[in-house]
Amino acid sequence: MKSNMQYSDRAGNCLMKPFSHIYVEDRVRVLSRTAEILKKFPNAKVIPIHHYKDVFNRRKQNYHLQHETRALILACKEGQLVYPGAPVCQSFGNEHFYYSSSMMNCVFDCEYCYLKGMYPSGNIVLFLNLEDIFREVEMLLQKHAVYLCVSYDTDLLAMEACTGYVREWTKFTAEHPGLSIEIRTKSAANFFWDTATLSDRNIFAWTLSPERIIRTYEHDTGSLAGRLASIRRGLELGFPVRLCFDPMLYCPDWKEAYGSMLEQVACAIPMDRIRDVSVGSFRLSQEYLQAMRKNMPDSAVVQYPYVNDHGVYHYPEELTEEMERFLVDRLRQMVPEEQIFRWEDLDDLT
Ligand code: SF4
Repeated sequence: MKSNMQYSDRAGNCLMKPFSHIYVEDRVRVLSRTAEILKKFPNAKVIPIHHYKDVFNRRKQNYHLQHETRALILACKEGQLVYPGAPVCQSFGNEHFYYSSSMMNCVFDCEYCYLKGMYPSGNIVLFLNLEDIFREVEMLLQKHAVYLCVSYDTDLLAMEACTGYVREWTKFTAEHPGLSIEIRTKSAANFFWDTATLSDRNIFAWTLSPERIIRTYEHDTGSLAGRLASIRRGLELGFPVRLCFDPMLYCPDWKEAYGSMLEQVACAIPMDRIRDVSVGSFRLSQEYLQAMRKNMPDSAVVQYPYVNDHGVYHYPEELTEEMERFLVDRLRQMVPEEQIFRWEDLDDLT
């Protein structure tokens, strides 16, 4: 049953499904942020809990059921809140590269998502002590400039109608000159542009895939046309936008699929206004992929016979080179070479 929230945009792209159950940690029960969120789900059953791990880390969870009907867990994040960037992620030339996750898991459901191999649960944890993360970032900023990926281990924009975190992060970043953030998404929403704070340090990064790949593997995410419409709006408003063609996925007609996607992209948005682009093909740690293979025996993207290279699965070297080179060559005709970042050095992956 739907609550009074908006779950799809005008193009019919899913923004968010309602939650039937919301678990609330004792520590966040009295927060105004908790009340605000609960108000948005009047039909949800609210269940008090002591600690989010009591639910999230429970043994023998039903993976498939949880991915069908996910519960929301409102919690307080403890310990370290901002982490040095992972080696599997592109730093875009930034020296002090960090990430922070104010959520665990994602309302979208990409079959190839590493979160499926990383977490014991399909439920979504939302940490409500955002101000504690801000404080930790301020401490880092006293030492040096910071480049921070804030939509990490989740898709923050997909939950914006519920959390307002993108609004809060863009405001915070605009007020802190040494800070640049990246908000990566597969959403087709565009309502958030009205409340985001404009700054050339608030970088919105869209992952783009051919529409067929989106429909086959990136369940519940925005359509390609929807993502491009939102990007166009952001560019008109002056926001810096990054395009991420990552992960490229193999399919027998990948050249045609990715070639016509690029044509669609170039028709829909002014490529000369794009800040930069990244290109990378699918890669995933052995530990996560093995866990995913157990849970998804019928998924072609998960069961593909990847090469295991020092604990990281990826396409055979020749195919990786051919796919990424193809995209980079096409992109060179649209954006300057120095704005194209390609994930090349797999030896660095651990
Ligand atoms: S949008 Fe990103 S975080 Fe969300 S399921 Fe897809 S790959 Fe995972």
